[in-house]
Amino acid sequence: MTRTSRRSVLTVAAAMTAAGIAEATPAAAQAGPKPIFPVPMVTIPIVGESQVFQVRRIYCIGRNYAAHAIERGSDPNREPPFFFQKPTDAIQNVAIGEVADHPYPLLTKNYHHEVELVAALKSGGTNIPADKALDHVYGYALGLDMTRRDLQNGMAAEKKPWEIGKSFDHAAVLGSIHPASKTGHFEKGAISLAVNGTVRQNSDLSKMIWSVAEQIAKLSEAFELKAGDIIYSGTPENVGPVVKGDVLLCKLEGLPDMSIRIV
Ligand code: MN
Repeated sequence: MTRTSRRSVLTVAAAMTAAGIAEATPAAAQAGPKPIFPVPMVTIPIVGESQVFQVRRIYCIGRNYAAHAIERGSDPNREPPFFFQKPTDAIQNVAIGEVADHPYPLLTKNYHHEVELVAALKSGGTNIPADKALDHVYGYALGLDMTRRDLQNGMAAEKKPWEIGKSFDHAAVLGSIHPASKTGHFEKGAISLAVNGTVRQNSDLSKMIWSVAEQIAKLSEAFELKAGDIIYSGTPENVGPVVKGDVLLCKLEGLPDMSIRIV
């Protein structure tokens, strides 16, 4: 390595450290032509491990609890699962025990919480059978599918994409990842969200219309899933608005709590 390229590597590494991005490989150290500026990888801590989980894609399932499907105006019995994506760099990772400052986003006047179980994949494929799907799950985390509801509804009313309501900076709040080898797979268990100490969402994973295994099977009919993909598995009923100053506390039976403050 020349003196110049070593200095570039160190500069990139320092910038990544300053940005709070851990364990990222400096772009200049990769093979091939050197990028003109660094774009950090998105990595999430794994509880009990020194290595981190690198996120490839974020998939989300819509209306996966019957009572939430009804409150969003659809029939929970007839509709097949549907999916959308958020950009990977929309992730806001929240450490265990932290109350992370979460910026109220641009444009919206009706910003909603959606607490969800998140499955993190270690492998993938296409047309994965449901009875083999959990073999691809590395672990689980708590997540918040934050939503600019007014923008989502406005676009839906015009039969336009939801993108602006779901895919924006910090829209994918995510706790640390817990290996399934230690927690087991999540098929039931209480999931809840409180705002300023008042419980708003309160349900059980067993009420999901499509299980995590079924979500993986369905998703893999449409996309080739790969290691690093994560899946937000849908939210229970009683989604609702938050404002600046609100403190959100998310709970999932078997995992540590996750908390953010809207700022
Ligand atoms: Mn959701």
